[in-house]
Amino acid sequence: MHLLCGDEIRSLFTLATVGDLMQEESDSSLGLFQKYLTNRNIFKNREVLRHSYRPHILPHRQPQINAVAGILAPALKNETPSNILIYGKTGTGKTASVIYVGAELEKAGYEMGLFCKIVHLNCQVIDTQYRVLAQIAKSIEDTNEKSSDKTRINIPFTGWPTDQVYSELKNHLEETKGVLIIVLDEIDKLVKKSGDETLYNLTRINSDLNHAKVSIIGISNDLRFTDFLDPRVLSSLSEEEIVFPPYDAPQLCDILKQRADIAFNDGVLDEGVIPLCAALAAQEHGDARRALDLLRVSGELADRENADKVTDRHIKMAQDKIEADSMVECVSTLPTQSKTVLYSMLLLDQIGKKIFTSGEVVQIYREIAQTVDLDILTPRRITDLISELNMLGVISTRVVSRGRYGRTKEISFDTNVRQIAEVITRDPRLKEESLMRMDINHLRGLYR
Ligand code: ADP
Ligand code: MG
Repeated sequence: MHLLCGDEIRSLFTLATVGDLMQEESDSSLGLFQKYLTNRNIFKNREVLRHSYRPHILPHRQPQINAVAGILAPALKNETPSNILIYGKTGTGKTASVIYVGAELEKAGYEMGLFCKIVHLNCQVIDTQYRVLAQIAKSIEDTNEKSSDKTRINIPFTGWPTDQVYSELKNHLEETKGVLIIVLDEIDKLVKKSGDETLYNLTRINSDLNHAKVSIIGISNDLRFTDFLDPRVLSSLSEEEIVFPPYDAPQLCDILKQRADIAFNDGVLDEGVIPLCAALAAQEHGDARRALDLLRVSGELADRENADKVTDRHIKMAQDKIEADSMVECVSTLPTQSKTVLYSMLLLDQIGKKIFTSGEVVQIYREIAQTVDLDILTPRRITDLISELNMLGVISTRVVSRGRYGRTKEISFDTNVRQIAEVITRDPRLKEESLMRMDINHLRGLYR
């Protein structure tokens, strides 16, 4: 005889409920999705809360927008604008402002019959010299193809020697006889990945050009990358510097209100919702992206609940959800060694040690690394990885004094232990069977 186990009973039960639902909704051809489509109480247009949406008016960024426009304006007299280095924390509107000014400049150039083009490169993705040069060439090719029927050589996305790409790019540029403004967004990622050679070549390109002109806008969240630049490159790149300061809570309120008016149906936002989202994001670091995320996710949670209003409670839930999601994202992209260190901590937590020391982590780490055939790192290196995990907010550490034994670092998890465990064991190395065979009792024995 086969007895049903818990899971089987549960799944039978679920099947029955879904079946009932389908019965209930069978009159409508939309079936299961009917209720999600008809109860659209909350959103009028959710898309405007996404990062990709480009508002036409950017409140509280007029001084920065004017500054960029003023520096780029000589392009309309066919002169070379100064290079600009822009920095400020994430979500301070750097990308949005530069794209806005760029579009206006292209429009004005078009009206005046000039070739004036902005190429916007995201260096998080386009992070080698070859790809930067090829991508710039490609966007000129695309524009040129529209305006003339000459055939020319297109630069392939890999394979040529860099010199050849560089000289072909120069030919492309010369043909335009115009001004090209290259925006290197997240420029610190490019420098970190491939050094400053690209910048060195691009900042010198004007001396090789007779008819065309190039200027560069570098955008970064992190100013420390300038330490890695050759002083000549730095001084050329930062002919002009513009800082984007963080938004304060009232400014974030204005930004949110502008979007909320288009995004939400009238009256669905409780009075306190926008100020609370703004205040929370201002506490973070004045990040408009975080503020918009909070508002969007709160709305989505309310919508899914079928509520007819978004309230503070939804914001609280949204905050937890965003934090959990970014934790999962962060842990899942860690290298295997860091995950193994985390795994050791999870085991300690599992055997009841809620607070532990790096010495204990090292001990367990060694056992695991051996079991899954990883190179065993030195205690020093492991301590570094632990500090990194602390900085990322995955664990908490604090230094305590232990009298004559000196000072030691106590490590613990805040919450989220289950979520972290779930992400970590997705790593093929760490879900190996050999790990399952690790003897928990043996570990317990170590800490009796
Ligand atoms: P950064 O490049 O500095 O990280 P973004 O320009 O990408 O920031 O801005 C993040 C998000 O916030 C985008 O969705 C953008 O539209 C929005 N945003 C930023 N500043 C403003 C502003 N002043 N007005 C309206 N929306 C803004
Ligand atoms: Mg940006």
